Amino acid sequence: MQEIATSNRTREIIRRHGFTFKKSLGQNFLIDGSVLDRIIAAAQLDETRGALEVGPGIGSLTERLAKAAGRVTAVEIDRRLIPILEDVMAPYGNVGIVHGDILKTDLRALWQERFAGLAGVSVVANLPYYVTTPIVMKLLEDKLPIENIVVMVQKEVAVRMSAKPGGKDYGSLSIAVQYYCEPELVCVVPGKSFIPEPNVDSAVIKLKRRPEPAVRVADEEKFFRVVQTSFAQRRKTLANNLSALSGKERKAELGELLRAVGVQPERRAETLSLEEFAAVCEALSGSGM
Ligand code: SAM
Repeated sequence: MQEIATSNRTREIIRRHGFTFKKSLGQNFLIDGSVLDRIIAAAQLDETRGALEVGPGIGSLTERLAKAAGRVTAVEIDRRLIPILEDVMAPYGNVGIVHGDILKTDLRALWQERFAGLAGVSVVANLPYYVTTPIVMKLLEDKLPIENIVVMVQKEVAVRMSAKPGGKDYGSLSIAVQYYCEPELVCVVPGKSFIPEPNVDSAVIKLKRRPEPAVRVADEEKFFRVVQTSFAQRRKTLANNLSALSGKERKAELGELLRAVGVQPERRAETLSLEEFAAVCEALSGSGM
């Protein structure tokens, strides 16, 4: 039998089950085996490892994960896809299908229930584009023992996640991702690799979890608040944005603090490295701002 990630088999499964696509759930199914080859190679799975898939659809990636990993758990929000997945995944004894919204799933409990005893677990998915950032942020902030996150996202989001300081793509998403992970662009994927074709370009990105965050900060929440505030209005200077934290009356003092850690207050947030943001954060905390 042909694999699911082919145009013929995908159309056959959809027709046999009378399935209709829901655009609001970001349903674009992958029909390109060569893209799956790249995803699976990047995820570095083996039979001692597990994979969590977000949004399996009709199972094109799930089928490949079942062959590459020891155990697979796939969380799908659309109830109509559950019987289809149970049908097409019947030959694979190592796949568990969970009906649910990944954003509302207790991932810690899921980890204990499904992945106990494995050498490592990676998240591998063709993400629904309307919720990419909340999903990736949840995976990072829940501090789960994830080895790699290999995901298909909008190309523009992949570029922002891996952007370095100094350009318009670098922002709070780049910093949040790079704080926890080392990003690597795996490949760019054309619209014709999906049914139906999305009207944006896509890309596969690999986020390799760092053993320790990229920079050391005393208070992570404060660090991300400083980053968010610094980018509040991209065209404003760092000092102008950060005066929201210091208060207008302490703006001169804020300027001194920034200079003391080697950051000119006139700079824009998009020019600061993670190390510089960490230094700014510690300086503000130290003076109660
Ligand atoms: N993995 C399949 C593939 O590559 O062909 C389908 C990918 S499709 C881009 C995204 C999938 O995520 C859809 O099946 C959609 O129903 C599902 N989905 C959307 N929002 C979700 C959520 N919050 N939680 C879990 N699944 C979700």
